[in-house]
Amino acid sequence: MHLRYSYRIYPTASQQQALARTFGCARVVYNDALALRKAAWKADRSRIPTGALAKAVITDAKKTEARSWLRSVSVDALQSSIRDLDTAYRNFFDSVSGKRSGHRVGLPVFKSRKDNRQSLRFSRNGFRLRSNGKLNLARIGDVRVKWSRALPADPSSVTIVLDPSGRYFASFVVDIEPQHLATLDTEVGIDLGLTTYAVMSDGTVIDNPRFLRKAEKRLRAAQRALSRKAKGSKNRAKARRKVARAHAKVADTRMDWLHKQTTRLIRENQAIYLEDLNVRGLARTRLAKSVHDAGWSTFRRLLTEKAARYGRHVGIIGRYEPTSQVCSACGVPDGPKPLGIRTWTCGACGTCHDRDLNAARNILAAGRADRPNACGGPVGPGVAIPRRARPVETGTHRNASRTGRKPRAAGAAGIPVH
Ligand SMILES: [Zn+2]
Repeated sequence: MHLRYSYRIYPTASQQQALARTFGCARVVYNDALALRKAAWKADRSRIPTGALAKAVITDAKKTEARSWLRSVSVDALQSSIRDLDTAYRNFFDSVSGKRSGHRVGLPVFKSRKDNRQSLRFSRNGFRLRSNGKLNLARIGDVRVKWSRALPADPSSVTIVLDPSGRYFASFVVDIEPQHLATLDTEVGIDLGLTTYAVMSDGTVIDNPRFLRKAEKRLRAAQRALSRKAKGSKNRAKARRKVARAHAKVADTRMDWLHKQTTRLIRENQAIYLEDLNVRGLARTRLAKSVHDAGWSTFRRLLTEKAARYGRHVGIIGRYEPTSQVCSACGVPDGPKPLGIRTWTCGACGTCHDRDLNAARNILAAGRADRPNACGGPVGPGVAIPRRARPVETGTHRNASRTGRKPRAAGAAGIPVH
């Protein structure tokens, strides 16, 4: 399975200049290739093969006056850019045809110099790991890396990212064997809530991470300061940088907390069952703040990825299961309950229920029923390859940045692991 390992890197001033040049060239090649593909599609619905595309926008373009500067950067980064465009198209087609699950992926869009996040990728031929711990990038040089944890295997590619707060990251893709943990017989149902983060069918409660509110308060203060600065001024640029840093802080803190929670759950349980909450629907209501805080979809994604890696099972039960209305003791439906009602007594058997705990128990029961091989049979991992851990070029869907959720702002925390 493919996993990403991200590290902060510290390029020198001249390396930053070289990187800026490469970001620019990779972007131009990407945009040129996209324009050619769009034009070919419009003309006769044809698709230009990748080889021909690379020849047109790299090899041949270099010989022209207008694109001669492409010669000053690594060819590998430029070729990766075209492969990323291919991936973006493939993701779009897979999403349209239903082969790819999750949110709809749009058509690839042109990249801009003004994009919040700049990135470029090197294949195996474009980088080397030095014995002195530095990362050698083609035509850039040896860059200092902060190795916050060891790479478990030889990486197959590296993506260099410049985030909006001005930090550089190297994100390696490594192919590793799943390491299945010893099988347990504990299974748990989880009810994701609003008053608490989650309640588990064994009665354990995960509290909401309130520390996020504090980080967000600082973020709001920085945003207010930004709005007071004159447009185009130096101070405004400085304030914008500050807001970006505060954003990154919130995202990193949240990611860190989610990693801890999900790792613990995966270690302690053989199977975990969740409700398929319509997170997007909820996020539009006034509950939006809490839902964002809670980061439910990230919680679920991390669980699924870690389950695949460690041989656990994550089961998602249907959204319309009336988990809060049915008595988990006798199974009799007790009718809908407004959100305000936290405890209720079953009219049929007289059991007194905590709303969330009852829901968690029902989720566990529904999950078990959905999984006939639960006892004895081979346990299938949640998914074969975590979708988000695949080496996919982002920046192909504008919406990602608009939701303000910054799925990759936490690039630092990286995708899964530990
Ligand atoms: Zn009952």
